[in-house]
Amino acid sequence: HAKASGRNNYQFFKANMHAEAGHRMFVENGLRRALKRGEFVLHYQPKVDIASGAMTGAEALLRWHEPTLGLIGPAQFIPIAEQCGLIVPIGRWVLRQACEQVMSWQRAGLAVVPVSVNISALEFRHPLFIDEVSKILTETGIDPSHLELELTESVLMHDAESSATALEALKRMGIQLAIDDFGTGYSSLSYLRRFPINTLKIDQSFVRDIETDVDNATIVGAVIGMGRNLKQRVIAEGVETALQLSFLRREHCDEGQGFLFSYPLLPDALARLLKMPHAAVVA
Ligand code: C2E
Ligand code: MG
Ligand code: MG
Ligand code: MG
Repeated sequence: HAKASGRNNYQFFKANMHAEAGHRMFVENGLRRALKRGEFVLHYQPKVDIASGAMTGAEALLRWHEPTLGLIGPAQFIPIAEQCGLIVPIGRWVLRQACEQVMSWQRAGLAVVPVSVNISALEFRHPLFIDEVSKILTETGIDPSHLELELTESVLMHDAESSATALEALKRMGIQLAIDDFGTGYSSLSYLRRFPINTLKIDQSFVRDIETDVDNATIVGAVIGMGRNLKQRVIAEGVETALQLSFLRREHCDEGQGFLFSYPLLPDALARLLKMPHAAVVA
């Protein structure tokens, strides 16, 4: 009996493995086509100054407009793009597109806010990454201070020495730098001090239940205090409720980002917000 069920498990596992490999192949081919046919789109989610309610920036978030399946979120395809290396050309497209978008808002006479772009490990460690970024800055004409790169702790700590070198080079170009999903990785605090980082983004898992979970409230409070001491701005991700906002305001968190303020928006919708006086997002 045990043997039979063991074999069944094996059969099941094998079937799953095939399904998974098949799925990965399907997505990989789809992504290759998507790049060629221009099926990627960026949505932009406002970042808000908690004290004033003004928009301080926007994060570019990638979506894939698959012709038959519709809009697909990054969680469905970024991991596969990372596994097969396609994240490098995709990431390059994202960077260029985000910079071109800023320039087109600027040409339209809109209040310009910096745009943040997520960078995967493979992109950051690519030997041509810095050159590529520099080329995109020159070719699009964007003011480097209007571009922020978001990197996770694990990406930075993987090889902290060479990360520090790369970050210094990006900093010298005038680009802003942020640590994304802060608190979920293993940052060495001594490196954190050495990295030329402007912003810490507190991961949404800590923000989610700051009203009810004392530990999370303590962690968020501590990160805000640390950011203040290290002269880094602190932004809370995933702000969904008025109670979370009042907690963050009480703790003097600099910025917030989340569904409470705005969902990620199409470029035109973000442009409408940029047209509002002081680009205020919160009342
Ligand atoms: P992330 O960089 O931490 O981005 C924040 C994610 O949280 C986004 O999900 C955003 O839509 C979502 N979010 C924002 N506010 C709230 C909220 O109040 N509640 C909840 N529950 N969620 C909120 P999204 O767009 O699905 O992106 C997921 C992840 O995919 C991103 O996490 C980032 O790691 C990755 N990603 C997105 N775009 C790119 C890209 O262009 N390149 C790379 N390498 N990764 C990307
Ligand atoms: Mg991010
Ligand atoms: Mg994040
Ligand atoms: Mg994340």
